[in-house]
Amino acid sequence: MQAKVGLILKSCCLLRFYVLMAALAWLLVEGGAVAVCARTKAGVRTVTIDAGHGGKDPGTLGPNSKEKDVTLAVALRLGEKIRAKHPEVKVIYTRDKDEFIPLDERSAIANVAKSDLFISIHCNSASATVAKGVETFVMGWHMAEDQFEVAKRENSVITFEQDYSQKYNHFDPNSPESYIIFSLMQNVFHDQSIEFATLVQQNFVKKNNRFDREVKQAGFLVLYKSSMPAVLIELGFLSNRKEESYLLSPKGQEETAEAIAQAFDTYAKRREVSLLEKVTSDSARADTASPAPAVGRRYLIQVASVNERIGSKHPLRREFPNLIELHEGKRYRYFTDRYGSYEEAKKNLQSVKEKYKDAFITSFED
Ligand SMILES: [Zn+2]
Repeated sequence: MQAKVGLILKSCCLLRFYVLMAALAWLLVEGGAVAVCARTKAGVRTVTIDAGHGGKDPGTLGPNSKEKDVTLAVALRLGEKIRAKHPEVKVIYTRDKDEFIPLDERSAIANVAKSDLFISIHCNSASATVAKGVETFVMGWHMAEDQFEVAKRENSVITFEQDYSQKYNHFDPNSPESYIIFSLMQNVFHDQSIEFATLVQQNFVKKNNRFDREVKQAGFLVLYKSSMPAVLIELGFLSNRKEESYLLSPKGQEETAEAIAQAFDTYAKRREVSLLEKVTSDSARADTASPAPAVGRRYLIQVASVNERIGSKHPLRREFPNLIELHEGKRYRYFTDRYGSYEEAKKNLQSVKEKYKDAFITSFED
């Protein structure tokens, strides 16, 4: 037993040495790769948070509330949470006080900052006071009747702006014909927008027990002009007394911001993983193009990174008999196996991901 542990530790030390050497080699030899590696630290580098309405535009009105106040309170809390957990991420607000910001300026702020994600925050309203629940929109052209109602209301804020007709190419928020402009749009960020919107909805429903009005698509001017994954979240109905008091309460605002912040965590983490895969894939291609290297590159699939060493009877050890353990500082990282090529690792990653969805490929010099 003692000898076995010693052997594991010894091979761990060796592996750690290899990883360190590989990192050093990258630093010394491949200047280009260093830049790419640095970027993997934050898959999402900048996020723009847009508190809907403001200043002379109060947004929708509840019996005791104005939409512009609720959206600002939740937006600021969300930004604080992201800054606290992701100090490397730049958080930009379209407004951080009660002021009027034209719609096209909001997306321009996100575009100029080269944001990786745009989160627009709003509150819903309906003539039926029983209407309730949360819904998250992504840009889309096909709209059902109730989606059109939301888009109409949120887009109509442009009427607060001077020369809005000219500025927005005669867009009339109330005319369905106007919405045809959105059909011409090719949204390359559609999948990522849907992914983030889905995470937001899941958290609202699972963690906050909110009524699910699901992820929807509609034509919003504020999303239309954003060149990045973008969502518009309707936090709930201010026309519904119960939801209004929830959204006005510190508890409701805290839970709401937390649900979105956690969706951000997951989304950002997934972006890091896919960037890391891209780096590995690029270096794998570089290897193929260059003459056979004196030492071979090995590929590992990481399945876990934990604070405490896992026990000998842990399911991971049963599931992956060749499980590799790497002890770095306070972390224990676990890899399913080592593979001779990126393609081989990639092939195995598919099945590993079915159970460990955050698994990813990393590599080192042998
Ligand atoms: Zn709104």
